[in-house]
Amino acid sequence: MNVVKPLMMISIVSVTLLLFILRPFGLLDDKSPLSSTKTTAFVPDELMAALPFGQDILAARDLSRFDGDEALLRLSLLEQRGTFEEHDLYKAYYYMIMNNIMLRLGRIDDATGYTKRLFTFAEDNNITWLRASALAELAIERTKRGDFVTANQYLTEGVTIAKAINFDSLLIKLYNTLGVINNISGDYGQAQQFFHKGLKLVENYPEHLYYSKIISNLSLIYINLEEWSKALEYIEKAKVIYHTGARLEPGILAILLVNESNMYFHLNDTENARSAYEDAKVYVKQDASARLKAILFKTHADVLYLEKNFAMSLDVSHQCLNSKDINEFPLQKALCYTSKARSEVALGNNIIAVNDLNIAIDYYENLSSRSGITLSNQLLSEAYEKLGYEAEALKYFKLYYQENKKALFDRRQSEIYQLEESFNAETNRHALALLNTQHELKKLALERQTLGSRVIFGMSLCAVFGLGYVIKKNLDIEKKNELLQCSNTDLVELSTRDALTGLYNRRHFEYYLQILNQDKSLYTDRCFTLAILDLDHFKVINDNHGHDVGDEVLIEVSKRFQQSLHSSDLIIRWGGEEFVCLIEQKNNVDSLDRLNRLCHKIRNKPMKTDCKDIHVTLSVGAVVDISAAELAANSSDLIKLADEYLYKAKQTGRNQIIAESRNCKPVLDNVVEINC
Ligand code: GH3
Ligand code: MG
Ligand code: MG
Repeated sequence: MNVVKPLMMISIVSVTLLLFILRPFGLLDDKSPLSSTKTTAFVPDELMAALPFGQDILAARDLSRFDGDEALLRLSLLEQRGTFEEHDLYKAYYYMIMNNIMLRLGRIDDATGYTKRLFTFAEDNNITWLRASALAELAIERTKRGDFVTANQYLTEGVTIAKAINFDSLLIKLYNTLGVINNISGDYGQAQQFFHKGLKLVENYPEHLYYSKIISNLSLIYINLEEWSKALEYIEKAKVIYHTGARLEPGILAILLVNESNMYFHLNDTENARSAYEDAKVYVKQDASARLKAILFKTHADVLYLEKNFAMSLDVSHQCLNSKDINEFPLQKALCYTSKARSEVALGNNIIAVNDLNIAIDYYENLSSRSGITLSNQLLSEAYEKLGYEAEALKYFKLYYQENKKALFDRRQSEIYQLEESFNAETNRHALALLNTQHELKKLALERQTLGSRVIFGMSLCAVFGLGYVIKKNLDIEKKNELLQCSNTDLVELSTRDALTGLYNRRHFEYYLQILNQDKSLYTDRCFTLAILDLDHFKVINDNHGHDVGDEVLIEVSKRFQQSLHSSDLIIRWGGEEFVCLIEQKNNVDSLDRLNRLCHKIRNKPMKTDCKDIHVTLSVGAVVDISAAELAANSSDLIKLADEYLYKAKQTGRNQIIAESRNCKPVLDNVVEINC
C-alpha cells in the first residue's frame, strides 16, 4: 500500500505533465466543430435597411400594417423629395406599402391595382424575388375572392421562385395561403401539411406576422374536424404569439377572435362566443377591410342565434348580405346566407330558408367548400322536414350524412398529422423543461471541460488535492447527470401519454411497432387482436352537458378500460372519443371475449360525473388472429380494416363488436358479430 500510493502519484503527475505539454499543439482539442449546413435566407428588408432611406421606408411599411393614415403621411413626405425614383428597391417597397395602406383603408380595388403595378415593375426590371412577392399578394387577393384556380397557379410559381432563392419569409406566406385554400376545400390533410411547412420556417422568424396567422388557421382545421380541445389550444397559442409579437396588425387579431367565437358557437357556449365576438369587434373597428366587416356580421348573427334572438340574428344576416363589397367575397356571402337560413328555419320561414340555402350551396360548390355544402344540406333537410316534404328531407339528409361520413373518414386520415401535432403540442408544453434540461447538460459538459484544464494546472501544482477535487466533482456531475437523464426519461414518458386520460397516445403505439419491426425474433408464434373502440353518440353528451362533462366521461371510460384489460394489453387514446386496443392472444386468450367484457364494463354502469350519471355505450371494429409479422408490416392497413368494421358496427345499430379473423390462428368464422 505504501509503495503503491507514491507510484500512483508519480504516474499521475507524469501523465498530467505530458497532457500539459501536448495541449499547446492542439492535439487534444475537440475536433468536432459545429457543422453548419444552413443556407442563408434571402431577406429583402436587409437590403433595404442598408440603403440611405431604408430605415424610413421600413418604418412606413411597418406602420402601413395597422395605421394607414399615418403611413400615407410618411410616404408622401418621402415622395415629395423624389425618394422613390432614386432606387428600384424604393419603388418596389412603395408599391408594397401602398397595397397595405389601401387594404387598411378598405379600398380593395386600389390595393389590387398597386399589386399589379408591382408585378409589372418586377417583370420590366426582371427582378425575380419581386415577381414572387407580387404573385403572393395576387394569390391572396384571388383567394379572398374565391378564385382558387388562379390563386393556386400564382402560388405554385411563387413557391418555385421563393424556394430557388431561399426567400423563406415569403415561403411562409405562400404556404399559409395554400393551407387556407385546401382548408376551405375540405382537404384538411393537405392544408395541415402546408401550415406545418410554414410553421417549420417561421421558427427562424419568430417576429413574422404570419406566425400567429398560421397557428390561428390551424385551429380552423380542427374546428372543421370538430376537435374542439385542439382548436382551442391553437387559438390560445395564436393569441399568445400575437401579443408577444412586436408588430401588431389588428386584422389578424380580429380573425383570431372571430375563429374563437366560431368555435364556441359550435360548442353551444353562448357566453364565450359573445365575449370573443365583442373583443373581435374592437379590432375590426381599427381595420376597414370590407371582408373583415362581413366576417364580423356573420359572427354577430351566429352569436345572436345562439342567444335565441332569431329576429335580430336575421337582421344582422341581412346587414351582412348588404354590406359593402360583399359580392367580392363569395365565401363570406355564402356563410351569411347560411347563417340567415338558420335563423329563418328557427322562425318558421322554411321556404325562404330553402331558397337561401340553395343560393349558398351554389356559392359553396363554386368554391368546392365541402364543409359549407354539408352544413347547408343538413339545414335543408331540417327545413324540408318542417315543411312536411319528407322525400326531400330524406334526400338532403342522405347527402348530409354521406358527406359527413366522408369528413369523418378524413378526420381519421388527418389523424396522421394529428399524431405529429399532438406530439408537437406535448413537446411544446414540455419544451421549457427540456430546454432547461439540455441547458443543464451543456453546462455540465462545459464544467467538465473547464474542469479538465483546471485538473492539468492544479495537478501539476498539487496532484493530490487536484485529484481529490476531480473525483469529488466528477461524482457530483455523475449524480447530477443521472438526475437529468431521469427527468429526460420522464419527459419522453410524458410525450407518449395523453394529457386528459393518462392513457398512452399514438406515439407510444408507434414505438411499440418500431420495436416489433426491429426485432424479428419477437415474431415467433405470436398472434394479436387489433380493435378500434369508439364511444356511441358522444357528441350528444358534449352538446347536452358541456365539454367538461364530456371530458369527465372520457376519463372515467379510460379508467374502466384499464381496469378491464390485462396489463400486457395496450390501450391507446387514438383521438377524441376513439381508442385503439392491442391484445396479444397468448395462453389461448379469447380476445373477443375480453373486448366483450370491456363493452359490458362501459355499458352496465353509468359514468359518474359532476353533472349527472351518464349512460355510455361502445362500438368496436376488430381484427383478430393477426400474426406479429403482419402487424409489424401492415399496421396501418389493419387499422383501416378495423375502422371499416367499426363503421359497420355504427351503421348496424352501434353498441356491438364486429370483427374479422386473419390467419394467425384461425379459430373463428370469418366475420363475427357480437352484441355487447
Ligand atoms: P358516433 O356514435 O357515430 O361515434 O357519434 P359520436 O357523436 O360519438 O361521434 P362524432 O365523431 O360525431 O363526435 C365525436 C365528438 O367527440 C365530437 C368532438 O367534439 C368530441 N370530442 C373530441 N375530443 C374531445 C375531448 O377531448 N373532450 C370532449 N369533451 N369532447 C371531445
Ligand atoms: Mg363516437
Ligand atoms: Mg369518433
